[in-house]
Amino acid sequence: MERTLPDHSVRPPSQALTRTGGFLAGFTHTLQPYIGCRFGCTYCYVQGLGVHRFHQPPLPWGHYAHPRAGIAERLGQELARHQARGRLERLAIFMSSATDPYQGLERRWRLSRACLDQFLAFPPGRLLVQTRSPLVEEDFPRLRALGERAWLSFTLETDQDEVRRVVTPWCPSIERRLETLAAAREAGLNVQIAVSPCLPFSSVASFGRLLLELADRVVVDSFVCGDGQGGRRTRATGIPELYEAQGWGDWQDEGPAQELYRWLAARMGDRAGWSQAGFRALAHPEQGRAD
Ligand code: SF4
Repeated sequence: MERTLPDHSVRPPSQALTRTGGFLAGFTHTLQPYIGCRFGCTYCYVQGLGVHRFHQPPLPWGHYAHPRAGIAERLGQELARHQARGRLERLAIFMSSATDPYQGLERRWRLSRACLDQFLAFPPGRLLVQTRSPLVEEDFPRLRALGERAWLSFTLETDQDEVRRVVTPWCPSIERRLETLAAAREAGLNVQIAVSPCLPFSSVASFGRLLLELADRVVVDSFVCGDGQGGRRTRATGIPELYEAQGWGDWQDEGPAQELYRWLAARMGDRAGWSQAGFRALAHPEQGRAD
């Protein structure tokens, strides 16, 4: 499908950090440098949250993304206030939950990079950078400089690129993502792999070994547990029809994802996590720090 791809800046944000709860309870705030997401994953439930309503007529999910120009300056002001109140250490920030902070637009706008620079000036207790984009490699030195406070959480829903091409055709290839994960290990970052949501994969042993090799932690998630509404949000996406068309079985079947999680837990202990509890384990700054 042709994409229209509007990408003009929206009005400067009145607020950078958003208090969070629900699925991400434990993290204190989320941070979204962009509105919309050009990765346009079929399963993305953000598309149902009405973030595109400012387009008239509405544009389909994945057909737009807008920089929140000025967000880093706003973030710096907010972090300075937290510092003045002695609360920086208590902050646990999830960047990002409703967009990918390293989608292609970042190459031009560098808002995520500018936010990392603010975090370097005012280090929070925990910063989790959630992305699937190899572009994050260019900011590895910044993440490294944040030390044990920062975790890269990198999405890898499957080890099969043919599955990726069907479900998330606008996302980076599996091969390229594996290169980024290897580079993150090489750079000495704290790396979590988010198998979220778990898509059809090769075999438990084969995918599991890959995950063991590349991650300090792994979170496995399913459509049912991971969309925050027991699968209702996913039902409203193209996933049910897509699974049926591909002959992949019941999209609500958590069996393969749970089997992968159990295989990992047997080898990684509590460094393997399931769904919400797995993500929340990193919300607390004392978790995941070097011994
Ligand atoms: S990368 Fe994340 S925010 Fe973007 S479309 Fe995919 S699931 Fe949604």
